[in-house]
Amino acid sequence: MKTLIQNGLLIDPRNQVQAKLNLLLENGRVVSVTRDIPPADRSIDAAGMTVSPGFIDIHMHEDFVGADGHLEDDDQKAIFKCMLRMGVTTVLGGECGINRYDPAQYLDIVDRDGAAVNVALLAGHAFIREACGHTDKYTPATEEELAAMARMLDEELDAGCFGISYGIRYTPGLNRRELLETARACVSRKKMIAAHVRDDAAEIFAAGREFLDAARELKLPAQFSHIGSMAGFGQMEDFLAFIAEYRMNGLDVSCDCYPYYAFSTAIGATTYDDGWMERYHCDYGVIEICEGKYKGQRCTKEIFEEERRDHPEHLTVCYVMKEQDVDMALQSPNVMLGSDGIMNNGQGHPRAAGSFPRLFSEFVRKGKLSLYEAVRMCTAMPAERLGLKNKGSLQAGADADIVIFNPDTIADRATFAEPALPPVGIACVLINGEIAMQHGEIINGRLGKAVRKI
Ligand SMILES: [Zn+2]
Repeated sequence: MKTLIQNGLLIDPRNQVQAKLNLLLENGRVVSVTRDIPPADRSIDAAGMTVSPGFIDIHMHEDFVGADGHLEDDDQKAIFKCMLRMGVTTVLGGECGINRYDPAQYLDIVDRDGAAVNVALLAGHAFIREACGHTDKYTPATEEELAAMARMLDEELDAGCFGISYGIRYTPGLNRRELLETARACVSRKKMIAAHVRDDAAEIFAAGREFLDAARELKLPAQFSHIGSMAGFGQMEDFLAFIAEYRMNGLDVSCDCYPYYAFSTAIGATTYDDGWMERYHCDYGVIEICEGKYKGQRCTKEIFEEERRDHPEHLTVCYVMKEQDVDMALQSPNVMLGSDGIMNNGQGHPRAAGSFPRLFSEFVRKGKLSLYEAVRMCTAMPAERLGLKNKGSLQAGADADIVIFNPDTIADRATFAEPALPPVGIACVLINGEIAMQHGEIINGRLGKAVRKI
């Protein structure tokens, strides 16, 4: 079946294109890009709309696998469905050291059942560490455990994972040797490492050095995760220069960031270990509880201690980042959009269902970014970072992953109270040439496939 998308403004920064062009799709691919109107079996009128490669979310946390062996499928709870409704067609999960399930098997489940979006994964260091028997996050792995981790990482990378992620903040027992000995699995396979580094705010420079020096020693591409929530406390200008210095001296490093001024993590996370209030210069009241009986409430000392003791898994939102720092990051040419979306039973931070539309409503329409630049941050940059030849582009031959949106109305609606609320202004999303979402309604939530890097 031939599909024609006509009358839209095609923006494809990977090919340096912004022009009124029509797209002809067949068999899951773009077959031609033309000013003509070729015959087709169906046509989609994109007049007044932007036609962009489907967005690629380079930093998110994938859906859970249920006891029945299938991915979460509930419309309100499945993060892949939130992704699809905001125009994302491909995600990279397994971030911050965390996997929901063995990543090689997860990719097989995606292929067996289909998913709402195309799914690529990193192998999470903490997941591998636990699978190899080391459950104490505060102590280093033993030599035997390290050898087992290296073997398991070899297998996960050979099964198609794009590299290894670290959540050093959450696994403080990781030392330099463990970082190098695990990351080494990426060297011969030319894969990447990504990290949520050990510390933030004033300590971000030492934490950044630990990660980037390891990448430089092994000559690995490095992705610095959610820079806004790491250096967004008054350090951003200096820290962007710090990253640029590594880049100018030969390290292939880039960053991602989500367009919000508050971060989210579990109340039991090491982020809230003693000293956190001194680090962010704040009080208990900056934390909002997202689940359970205190849902929607700000913390007091009593609530904080009770939740941390009784419900360490409950998600929180922490309102501590500086707007000008997050804006500066998103305006930096080396920073791409990454939602860091995470959902626990339908609860969490609205970035999981709002990040991409929000970049257009809050940054493009308010004059902080051009439309072209915003599309570049959501398509060409992550595709190039991941080495995806056929995605993040609408050239003839590319995968027909496409988002059609109205640049004047696209906007996020998800809030901290209703984190899964779908955005508005997205007319249509196609995955592998088929219509997956139209005007907020999921038409087919199973078009996504596993994306492997072999
Ligand atoms: Zn993280």
